[in-house]
Amino acid sequence: MSVLDESVRYVKGVGEAKAKSLEKLGITSLRSLVTYFPRSYEDRTAFKRIGELEPGEDVCVKAMVAARPVLSFVRKGMELVRLRAVDETGTLSITYFNQKYVRDQLAAGRTYVFYGRIGGTRSRPEMTNPVFEPDTGKLSVTGRIMPLYRLTAGVSQGLMAKVMAAGLKLCADALPDALPEEVRTEYELAQARFAYENIHFPDSAVHLEIARRRLVFEELYVLTCALARLRGSRRKEKSAPMAADALSDFTQALPFALTGAQKRALSECAGDMSGRTPMSRLVQGDVGSGKTVVAAGCCWLCAKAGKQAAVMAPTEILARQHFATFSKLLEPLGVHVGLLTGGQTAAARRETLKRTEDGEVDVLVGTHALLSEGMTFRNLALAVVDEQHRFGVQQRSRLTEKGESPHVLVMSATPIPRTLALMIYGDLDVSVIDELPPGRKPVKTFAVNETMHERVYAFIRRQVEQGRQAYIVCPAVGDETLADDGRKAAVRYAQTLQGQQFPDLRVALVHGRMKPKEKESVMAAFAAGDIQILVATTVIEVGVDVPNASVMVVENADRFGLSQLHQLRGRVGRGSHESFCILFEGAGGETAKQRLEALCRTNDGFKIAEEDLKLRGPGDFFGDRQHGLPELKIADFVENMDILYVAQAAAQKTLAADPQLIAPEHRLLACAVEEMLTVSGGTMN
Ligand code: ADP
Ligand code: MG
Repeated sequence: MSVLDESVRYVKGVGEAKAKSLEKLGITSLRSLVTYFPRSYEDRTAFKRIGELEPGEDVCVKAMVAARPVLSFVRKGMELVRLRAVDETGTLSITYFNQKYVRDQLAAGRTYVFYGRIGGTRSRPEMTNPVFEPDTGKLSVTGRIMPLYRLTAGVSQGLMAKVMAAGLKLCADALPDALPEEVRTEYELAQARFAYENIHFPDSAVHLEIARRRLVFEELYVLTCALARLRGSRRKEKSAPMAADALSDFTQALPFALTGAQKRALSECAGDMSGRTPMSRLVQGDVGSGKTVVAAGCCWLCAKAGKQAAVMAPTEILARQHFATFSKLLEPLGVHVGLLTGGQTAAARRETLKRTEDGEVDVLVGTHALLSEGMTFRNLALAVVDEQHRFGVQQRSRLTEKGESPHVLVMSATPIPRTLALMIYGDLDVSVIDELPPGRKPVKTFAVNETMHERVYAFIRRQVEQGRQAYIVCPAVGDETLADDGRKAAVRYAQTLQGQQFPDLRVALVHGRMKPKEKESVMAAFAAGDIQILVATTVIEVGVDVPNASVMVVENADRFGLSQLHQLRGRVGRGSHESFCILFEGAGGETAKQRLEALCRTNDGFKIAEEDLKLRGPGDFFGDRQHGLPELKIADFVENMDILYVAQAAAQKTLAADPQLIAPEHRLLACAVEEMLTVSGGTMN
């Protein structure tokens, strides 16, 4: 066992209570301690002489305490310690509030370094509660770059720094180091020990950068190896070829003509599927661009070749909708479509399982219920994953394992910026559907404040009178206390709307906590036009397709990511009616407003995604890390793009030489890969 696996209590001074607090930050072992990187730094390296001080700046001042500090009591519970510190250029007045003890720590006639913000005026500079230490050679809290960690109750910056310093000492010779020596030297990266010491306690800004570069590189290098490992050696496999010429039967039976972009995507898929190498293709297209029909075409080719296809969707609602669409498109051509979801009765599921196993079902549509142990196919040869970003990378491979090297088609409506796509889908060919079906008008989008509610209700009413339907999306479900923080909660809001604003219309409710059967019947009624206003949570965010709906209202829109709002907006504007998206600004303030305005300006999902990425960073980009990648400790996909490219190249080289990572010099790398895959189990499986 490595010292890294020792409990953090191994550090002197960390008892049960402190260990408990640290655990809240995910720090349990020495490994998790030393890889708990600072969130930012405070640069305390600037020194100035008193005569040069400018009010407002944060600096270190080296000065002598002129006389014994004076303690005074301003009023009850308020103690002041005042002193004057001098250098050859002037006098600095220093005040400490309620820190009586400093009086005894600051001796008259001795020189200290004070760090803090300058107040007062240029001629009469002041400091309040500055950090200080005697000016005796090695400085520890002044004159240097200080790490700032994300904290929790019971853990202060001071404690973190102390524990970190001690922890680093304990494992100084055993720090995590996944980089093979040759890679480290080839790319001129720092040694592990230097990197860890300087990422936590940088000697200088330059050393901090060198340390960061090494650690970022290492993380992206390990990540690339981990992803490659998941993908396995698919390219070497052989799959069932499917004749592409059957495609015309499918396109002729469609109720509409394919767009140019759809035709292109479909023929690219058909080209892949007609070969012996399994297809690995991503069809990427903005919401409403018509990806489903491309998937249906692929399923048709597969069924025509006498094989089975599986279509996996991230939600029950979407799976059922796809089941309806695929049935409509394919049953007339003699293809049998089945449905498998967690919400079905056990009997229905058993029946579907049996029919699939027997090969009676040609195309099986479902949720991740498709991944369950007992699910076996007779001859699965095509796996389609819709809204891929909702699934982890491993889920995709678990589906393909159910067949023998099946073709894989993944679809994503979340316009993933190129940079991220490269990382996530590095092994996929990409078809882009960059054209909307004809007759679509861009959705008119407005960001409005809370005072507009009445007008919006009136607007919805007018739309309903014209035969249209509306969605109203809330950020909370509503039977919980969460909703008391000002967010509109769907359950209560639906009741209010039905009771007060729209007593004469049918208002219904759908949210993630309803039973699948209930959800299904509400969605079916909405699709059939029996419900005019659907109050919902984000369960309708992906894929739902009701072309007659023309209004999307989002309450507390500041609570959602831009890409998520774009997805929601994509629920309308699917038919030929002019459509509207109304975003209530909520209490999000100026940045929130700025974000929403980006959405009003453009209907282009890619632009919005880039904007979102800029404003929020990739950590938040997909809400709760829906990109299926592990959480990174230090690297940042956007900021570290340049390092990503190099690290990927390095990893590819390593893997080419030693695909299984079994060489002795790759032992630590193999462990790091393993760890990355298990630690992030939540998202990657
Ligand atoms: P998404 O790309 O968001 O998954 P869908 O596949 O759900 O989009 O398609 C959106 C809507 O557009 C559906 O109602 C679908 O029937 C319709 N559609 C798709 N392709 C065409 C086309 N070429 N012409 C007209 N309507 C189309
Ligand atoms: Mg879709």
